Amino acid sequence: MDNQAVEHEKLESQIAEYEKQIFDLKQLIEISKSLNSTLDFHALIESILYTCMGQMQVMKAGLFTRRDIYEPDLTLHRSHIGFELDQELNYTIPGNHPLIAYLTANFGSYTYEEITEAVGDLSDIPGFQDMRPTLIIPLRAKTVVNGIIVLADRIGSQEFSTAEREYLLNIAILAGIAVHNAFLYEITTTDMMTRLKLRHYFQSALLEAKAEATVHNQPLSLIMCDIDKFKPLNDTYGHLCGDQMLKAVANTILNSIRQTDIAARYGGEEFVIMLPDTDPETARCIAERIRRNTEAIELPHEGTTIKTTLSLGVAYLSQDRDTTTKMLVERADKALYMSKRSGRNQVSLAV
Ligand code: GH3
Ligand code: MG
Ligand code: MG
Repeated sequence: MDNQAVEHEKLESQIAEYEKQIFDLKQLIEISKSLNSTLDFHALIESILYTCMGQMQVMKAGLFTRRDIYEPDLTLHRSHIGFELDQELNYTIPGNHPLIAYLTANFGSYTYEEITEAVGDLSDIPGFQDMRPTLIIPLRAKTVVNGIIVLADRIGSQEFSTAEREYLLNIAILAGIAVHNAFLYEITTTDMMTRLKLRHYFQSALLEAKAEATVHNQPLSLIMCDIDKFKPLNDTYGHLCGDQMLKAVANTILNSIRQTDIAARYGGEEFVIMLPDTDPETARCIAERIRRNTEAIELPHEGTTIKTTLSLGVAYLSQDRDTTTKMLVERADKALYMSKRSGRNQVSLAV
């Protein structure tokens, strides 16, 4: 090969290298757009995990993140993919764990071997070893580590190259900021006591859902509910006990609905649930399930158990009558008061 041919070849390989860099950067912009397009915490975490899995060709991905503003611990988010977990275990990294301190001071991606060499074995984190992580990447907002991505089971099981790890770190930087924003949004729209959404969030979500239902000609149902005789419960057992009951009922509601439904704390001991794409008969069944599950709650208190009941009202979006969301809410509220008047602990359908 003469000199010119050698030069030419060098140039071509340089161009190929630049083209790859342009491709990677373009991809990174797309990832950034996608991660910044949602403030929905759960959707965002899924998006981060699928992005990492696709880019790094791994079969398993999970994200440890904070559950609320007062908690420094990082807990494995339930949207993990591919891992077989022990239901009994609480997959939590304590906020004061050396792993978090190390990742805060030394932001980077680490193989399991690298990280255990740096901070010692991680058997004190429940279930962590059993997840057999191949790569561990922190997320951070400003200087605070607000998440840890764990990847495992690489297809073909070859090692991650330096370029790949650098690329992943860029994704993690974008993801860390997106998680921070979504986290702030989540906590400012959530009632911290019950973990249900706040009323103002619900109202705007209902407005959107109504528009969506109208465009796609889909049903939309609403359940209003209110704890029966809650004042006497407070008066007899104390406010703290009342709070515990509120949490138990809220939890029961959350466990009785789908991920796409939205439950909110509408007032003190009053809740509202929006059920998109749900006909009135199904909504009535769900309300009935919530009523039964609430009736079954047994709150231990000084050697006895405290029980409660719930009255519910179900309304169904009528395109002709409900010109505003307020009208729909009012009809559900009226149905709820029918339940109260007819003796409580029951479900009524709005007329
Ligand atoms: P009804 O069956 O007619 O609904 O009777 P009720 O006693 O539940 O109704 P009322 O509206 O008179 O009382 C609601 C009570 O809920 C009064 C208030 O002290 C209590 N409450 C509201 N918010 C909270 C809270 O955050 N914690 C506790 N413990 N109690 C609360
Ligand atoms: Mg009440
Ligand atoms: Mg009330």
